[in-house]
Amino acid sequence: MRIAVIGAGLSGLSFAHSSRLFADIHLFEKSRGVGGRLATRRAADYEFDHGAQFFTCRSKSLKSLLKGDDFQSAVSEWQPKLVTLAPDSETLKRTWFEPHYVGVPSMTAFPKRLARGLALSYSTRVREITRCGNRWQLKDGNGYELGVFDWVVSATPAPQVAMLFGARFFEHSLVEEAQMSPCIALMIALKDRPQLDFEAAIAQQSPISWLAINNSKPARSTVRFGLVVHSSNEWARAHIDEEQTAIENQLLAALNQLVDPDFLSIQEIHLQRWRYAKVEKAVGKEFLIDEENRLAAVGDWCLGNRAEDAFVSGCALAEHLERLLSGSQGLSSTLKSNLSE
Ligand SMILES: Cc1cc2nc3c(=O)[nH]c(=O)nc-3n(C[C@H](O)[C@H](O)[C@H](O)COP(=O)(O)OP(=O)(O)OC[C@H]3O[C@@H](n4cnc5c(N)ncnc54)[C@H](O)[C@@H]3O)c2cc1C
Repeated sequence: MRIAVIGAGLSGLSFAHSSRLFADIHLFEKSRGVGGRLATRRAADYEFDHGAQFFTCRSKSLKSLLKGDDFQSAVSEWQPKLVTLAPDSETLKRTWFEPHYVGVPSMTAFPKRLARGLALSYSTRVREITRCGNRWQLKDGNGYELGVFDWVVSATPAPQVAMLFGARFFEHSLVEEAQMSPCIALMIALKDRPQLDFEAAIAQQSPISWLAINNSKPARSTVRFGLVVHSSNEWARAHIDEEQTAIENQLLAALNQLVDPDFLSIQEIHLQRWRYAKVEKAVGKEFLIDEENRLAAVGDWCLGNRAEDAFVSGCALAEHLERLLSGSQGLSSTLKSNLSE
């Protein structure tokens, strides 16, 4: 049984990792590395986790994976000095009430570990899926054929699932119900260690929603210090298409209202526009599946807005497909005849 997985973010990787023993899996990823929004940007000698800042571990599936020796060295708990900041307001200390994890030595270490041993085509954007008998032919943007598969799993943000599968996906109306909002990340390389009395902050009443000293995470550089600043989703929605310098200037002005600029010696700035950053409205199902057409979709947007939701979504589809393909569930007659071919 050949299964194509479109997208090597956490949901695509957790699906592929969990299905690798019962199916022939091939992942296609449009960028040059794995992880999707669990991302690390390298710029000169600096590193920034500019997407997800941490992830939780509440589910049985993630807990049992992280207990394994393979994963223990790729993930560690992060316990920053955490505060709430707002312009002209007192800094308030905050506490997390559950462990928060990060990849080590960078956020992508976790997805990289999940991807070990999997068949993966990088820099390959799937543009089209077309029928080829009762299987699926995948093509890239140049019309180049990427292979024929029995099943296609989209592990991309909801708007990209809608583009790839369209109305032929039985669950397309649910895909369209999911709503996602953008975020802009500023990555600030510093000349020296920042003179701040916190390591991560939730910002309020500001275009900024979050800032963190990347080096406060375990196993990061102790020499090159970087600050990651996230805009609020609302601010990003209004400003995402503006010119880079205009965005940088506005976010730096907002930063100066939260933090004394004398405490930060800025060397250079990088920017990332995340168009589909946060799930505003999730579907409320672990995954979506169209058994007649042999199409399925996974992602954070199925369940919630956390990286762990993406992980759980991928695992849940893998468990379901394993049961389905082993014939232990009641299948429709069309599907049974398709599967037996
Ligand atoms: C700025 C930001 C901050 C966040 N902070 C947190 C946080 O602190 N804690 C937390 O739990 N979560 C956080 N999140 C959310 C978390 O990152 C996501 O929930 C999770 O990473 C989603 O994983 P995914 O696999 O569903 O999607 P993605 O990570 O988006 O993966 C989708 C993959 O599909 C690829 N792709 C898309 N289209 C195609 C195509 N046509 N062909 C081939 N490949 C394709 C993309 O390149 C990408 O790699 C944050 C997200 C952002 C952006």
